Amino acid sequence: MSEQGDGAEFAKLVTSLSRHLQRRQRIGVRFVPQDDLPKTGSVMANNENLLSGTAGDLFSDSAAAFQAKSLEELRAAIGDCRRCKLWPGRTHLVFGVGNRNAKLMFIGEGPGRDEDLQGEPFVGRAGQLLTDIITKGMGFRREDVYIANVVKCRPPENRNPEPDEVASCEPFLKKQIDLVRPEIIVALGKFAVQTLLQTKAPITKLRGNWHSYHGIKLMPTFHPAYLLRNPADKKLVWQDIKKVMKEMRGENA
Ligand code: URA
Repeated sequence: MSEQGDGAEFAKLVTSLSRHLQRRQRIGVRFVPQDDLPKTGSVMANNENLLSGTAGDLFSDSAAAFQAKSLEELRAAIGDCRRCKLWPGRTHLVFGVGNRNAKLMFIGEGPGRDEDLQGEPFVGRAGQLLTDIITKGMGFRREDVYIANVVKCRPPENRNPEPDEVASCEPFLKKQIDLVRPEIIVALGKFAVQTLLQTKAPITKLRGNWHSYHGIKLMPTFHPAYLLRNPADKKLVWQDIKKVMKEMRGENA
């Protein structure tokens, strides 16, 4: 590579590193955790790309992810991800499913047991409820919409994703949204909405009102798993979904 090329590459790495450190700083991380240090042995043993799954990877293949031109390229850039502490517990990395040109995108929190086993988002009990909302409530097929999560690997015992896990995975969700470019996002539950809108406001305050995510209309509503525990609130979700359907029909214009 020419000196100029080296310089440009170096500048890209510095920008990428600086963005990464800023993201970490925003969530209160003040050091590089041991788990993030390069695991040279296992990387070489797996014969992967030299940087895959290492601290270096955080800069170089976030760049590959940013440059992805399709969902397939993005998935390939994520690779056999080891960027956060969730990877040892996963069976499958649950990337996302559905229509790559969907007008409507649903975003949940993270895979549960069934999703981890099957490699597809929202296929367990909460998933069945979401599928009912999409098919029986809205009259779409599940494959007409796109479904993804904030974190792509199952948190142990279905605990909430932790801030460093969200911070590691968030760039991939954002790129997924960028590639699908839906007209409307339905954010399911507090993690999805708080991550996308960068707010700490509670879901009870946010749901039912339109917000904007980089120019895309975003409707927060309760998570289907919450509805399984609180079925009386299904009527509130139905109100939110009716607003989404009205918007899709262009009736709010
Ligand atoms: N809950 C989520 O948030 N996502 C899934 O994929 C399944 C359950």
